Amino acid sequence: MCYHDLSEMNFDISRRQKNFLSKVDKASNLLREYEEECYLNERINDMIVPVFKNIGMLGCPISSRYGGLGYDFLTYCLALERIGEEGSSIRTFLSAHTSIGQLVLQGWADEAQKREYLSHTTRGKSIMAFALTEPTAGSDPSSMEMVFEEKSDHYVLNGTKHWVGNGTLADLLTTYAKERNSKDGRGNGRISAFIVDKNCQGIRRKEIKNKMGLLTVKNAELHFRNCIIPKKNLLGLKGQGLSIAYSALIDGRLSVAAGALGVIKDCLAESIRYSKHRTQHGDLLAKKQLIQDHIAKMVVSLESSRWLVYRTAITRQHLQNYVETFKRDNTDWQLKLNRSNEEYIRIRDEVDRISSISKLYASNCAFDAANRSVQIFGSYGYTKKSRVARHFLDSRAIMIYEGANEVLTLKIGSQCLGKNFEAY
Ligand SMILES: Cc1cc2nc3c(=O)[nH]c(=O)nc-3n(C[C@H](O)[C@H](O)[C@H](O)COP(=O)(O)OP(=O)(O)OC[C@H]3O[C@@H](n4cnc5c(N)ncnc54)[C@H](O)[C@@H]3O)c2cc1C
Repeated sequence: MCYHDLSEMNFDISRRQKNFLSKVDKASNLLREYEEECYLNERINDMIVPVFKNIGMLGCPISSRYGGLGYDFLTYCLALERIGEEGSSIRTFLSAHTSIGQLVLQGWADEAQKREYLSHTTRGKSIMAFALTEPTAGSDPSSMEMVFEEKSDHYVLNGTKHWVGNGTLADLLTTYAKERNSKDGRGNGRISAFIVDKNCQGIRRKEIKNKMGLLTVKNAELHFRNCIIPKKNLLGLKGQGLSIAYSALIDGRLSVAAGALGVIKDCLAESIRYSKHRTQHGDLLAKKQLIQDHIAKMVVSLESSRWLVYRTAITRQHLQNYVETFKRDNTDWQLKLNRSNEEYIRIRDEVDRISSISKLYASNCAFDAANRSVQIFGSYGYTKKSRVARHFLDSRAIMIYEGANEVLTLKIGSQCLGKNFEAY
């Protein structure tokens, strides 16, 4: 059954939220020129952390108990929407740090882990990443080959993760592995999650070069060779890793969709500006009906994507509120929450469903908007110096990561038809 409670759809923004969003706007403006320079030189944007640290954006939806601002998901998404205008590289950095980074700890870590690790991340002292994908396990993480062995006071990890966003510089990450079977040395079926900090020995990082877009954030291949992880760094319960990874991807999808709104918005603004300035065949491009067709399609994309994204953010907040109350009332919440709690499963499944729809739809719209903008700009849009060209290159990636769009389509189909119709 779908979760439709329109009374939850409260779009009122408080003065505090408005003040914060205005700081996000100023910070985004501050990054604009430098981001372009870094993009053209394919250099990491090292201003993102200091600029966003100043306004608390590095812990926007994280509880104030761990140094965050404690904002709701709608505010977080509105901030990502604004940041997305400056490019999906910057937004990707924040998604990796917060949505598939910090929120995983906030959701699944025990109190001691949160105090030890989460508090540093909100102050920008440590940057987070999420390492799930492997060279042979992308859309199907359950087929991963990374293994762990349990020793008396630690775990030993062996395997390779790749395409890890922020992976070249992250101080802290979560990663996922199967228990090693002593007979054949391969992993058994159940996946566990681990917190890995930069002091863990046995990790080699290699930057992924020659990316097509997203040039101011870096992705890495991470090689774990007999990497020692202290016992206290098991995240959640043993065997709960896939549930943890999937919950991270739900939040990741929402953040991608929110950033996509910014991409569409910026492509639209750039196209309006350019078409009202450029004259061909004796008149402004903006007066040509075929150019107006491009503009109108971008407007429709923006309006329709927005409704989906905001609705997802509000439903995600509802899940958050439910989980927080549950955790307060149940000391053994890790055991109880996932298994038999019907209300939790109902809301979580709806957030899963709607975040997939939002990501699929908004990412396709963003790429379409960028494509149309490049067309409106003609040759002037065919250089990385133009914002719309950068959006074009970057938004290609958002159709692939956090669940490739084909896989999300299948997911939405089977969520509607029933589990027996899963067609992966
Ligand atoms: C820029 C970028 C950043 C990334 N950041 C991270 C990160 O921070 N952490 C991380 O862990 N990973 C990250 N990834 C990896 C990303 O999550 C994977 O690329 C993604 O899950 C797809 O996996 P794959 O590339 O192995 O493609 P595959 O799974 O091999 O899929 C290839 C194609 O086949 C399609 N396909 C797959 N299965 C089916 C099916 N059953 N039916 C029909 N079509 C199917 C897919 O949709 C895709 O189009 C990143 C990737 C990129 C490009």
